Amino acid sequence: MKTINISQLIKWLEKAALVMQENKDYLTKLDSDIGDADHGFNMERGFNKVREKLDELSNSKDIASLFKNTGMTLISSIGGASGPLYGTLFLQASMVLKDKTELNLIDLKNCLENGVNGVKLRGKASVGDKTMIDVLDPAIQSLSDSLNANLSINEALENLVKVAEKGMTSTTDLIAKKGRASYLGERSIGHQDAGATSSYLIFKSLKEAIN
Ligand code: ADP
Ligand code: MG
Ligand code: MG
Repeated sequence: MKTINISQLIKWLEKAALVMQENKDYLTKLDSDIGDADHGFNMERGFNKVREKLDELSNSKDIASLFKNTGMTLISSIGGASGPLYGTLFLQASMVLKDKTELNLIDLKNCLENGVNGVKLRGKASVGDKTMIDVLDPAIQSLSDSLNANLSINEALENLVKVAEKGMTSTTDLIAKKGRASYLGERSIGHQDAGATSSYLIFKSLKEAIN
C-alpha cells in the first residue's frame, strides 16, 4: 500500500476510541502510580467525543479538516495536560495537509513531524523527560528511515509500532522532568509513563486500522 485514504483514517479514529475505552483502567493505573489517576478517563472521554463527530465528517474529502476537528475536539473535551498536547499534535499535523485527500509516506512523516514539533513547543519536553515525547519523537525518525528504505505504508507502520513500543517501555527507568510525575523526582523511576503508553496505543490503532 502506497497511500492512506480518509475512510481509513476515520476507521483509525474509531479504533483509537475503542482502544482507549479498553485501556481506560490500564492508563489510569499507570497515571495513579506517578500522577493523579485520570489519564484513562481523559483519553476515553476525548476520543469518544472525536468518535461522536465522525459521522458529520465522513463526507469530508479533506484530511486537514478531519485532523483539525479532531484536535479541537481533544482540546475542548480533555481536562488534563494531555488534551492541549494531543490537540496540538492533530492541529499542527493538519497544517501541512491542506487539500490532501490521501496520505503517502512523505505526507505521513511531514504531518507527524509538524505535529510533534507543536507538542514540543507547547510542552517544552524533550526525549528522556518521561513523557509522550519519548514515543512521538522516535516515531518521526522511524518514518524517515522507512522512507529512505522505500518501504510500503504497512511496513513503515509495522516498524513505527515497534519503535513506539520501545519508546514507551524506555520511560520506566527514567526520572520524570515534565508534568505531574516530575513532582516525584527520583520516585518516578520504575513506572511507565501514561502518556507515552497512550501514544503507543494511538500508533498501534493506526497500524491495525489500515490493515
Ligand atoms: P494531567 O497530568 O493533567 O492529569 P493526563 O494525566 O491526561 O494529564 O496526562 C499526563 C501525561 O501527559 C503524562 O503521562 C505525559 O506523558 C504527558 N505530559 C505531561 N506534561 C507534558 C509535557 N510538558 N510535554 C509532553 N507531555 C507531557
Ligand atoms: Mg493525570
Ligand atoms: Mg489531571
